[in-house]
Amino acid sequence: AANPVSVVGLGAMGQAIAAVLLANGHPTTVWNRSAGKADELVARGAVDAGTLGAAVGASPLVIACLLDHASVHEALEPVADLLSGRVLVNVTTTTAAEARRTAAWAAEHGIDYLDGAMIAVPQMIGRPGSSLLYSGSRTAFEQHRAMLDLLGASTYFGEDAGLASLYDLALLSGMYAMFGGFFHATAMVGTAGAKATEFVSMLVPWLKSMADLLPSYAEIIEKGDYTTDVQSLLFNKSAVDAIARTSLEQGIGVDMVAPVQALIDRQIAEGHGADSFVRVIEGIRNPVPRS
Ligand code: NDP
Repeated sequence: AANPVSVVGLGAMGQAIAAVLLANGHPTTVWNRSAGKADELVARGAVDAGTLGAAVGASPLVIACLLDHASVHEALEPVADLLSGRVLVNVTTTTAAEARRTAAWAAEHGIDYLDGAMIAVPQMIGRPGSSLLYSGSRTAFEQHRAMLDLLGASTYFGEDAGLASLYDLALLSGMYAMFGGFFHATAMVGTAGAKATEFVSMLVPWLKSMADLLPSYAEIIEKGDYTTDVQSLLFNKSAVDAIARTSLEQGIGVDMVAPVQALIDRQIAEGHGADSFVRVIEGIRNPVPRS
């Protein structure tokens, strides 16, 4: 028979997780801080534990899906003794350092800790395209991998509990920069009356073809050799400065453009104008100390 599991935290994500586990035959116990969120799951066969302690006590594996790091500790610290000897998979979004702190706390209490990060929205959990990242206890991951794979494709990064968060937030950082670029570009053509719904059909193929350049940029980063005879920093400066000037001429802001300009300008100021644009990663790796 499938292993029993407890899901604590029944927000949009926790409900999606519990629903998939139930649908796959896992005896599923659930708990949520405020009432009402378990009702649909109970109708499908879940057991509402009523208290967090009862939920933890019901299964050797507890999945926590709460709001943030603070809520994980607020909720789980009072039940640390009950969690002792069990596996805790925490898929709450936290920073890497927070995940390491939770892992250290878990180790103090004899809790087998696996940190997780979900690259999915609730509707995707349990469907193709859903991806979950894990780090921390290797034995917990290996022992429960078949069950975790039900939620989405699982990737394990190693015993350092911070790694799943680090990779998750790195992926999100790439996504947010792309979204920011979309917003800026759409605001630019919007000053001429362009419809966002029409412009997007020009932008998406362009971004997709530009994304195809990233592996060649990655090779330059790996080699650490930024010499180039195409697309120097000075060349890119004139393009990005023209984007900023045009934006200002059209009466819109440059909040999305300014950070890229600043990174380019710093490399040029340090004497690297003839080098590849890819060198801006050095400015990110070695930030100007904050005052
Ligand atoms: P929701 O806001 O829908 O749910 C938050 C849950 O946390 C609720 O069950 C809430 O309980 C509970 N909670 C908050 N504070 C406490 C506390 N102090 N003690 C106990 N329980 C608490 O969020 P989601 O389900 O969408 O997200 C859950 C996690 O998943 C977050 O870390 C989020 O960043 C991450 N995530 C979400 C994605 C999404 O698309 N939604 C995508 C990827 C990751 P109550 O009902 O009582 O308020």
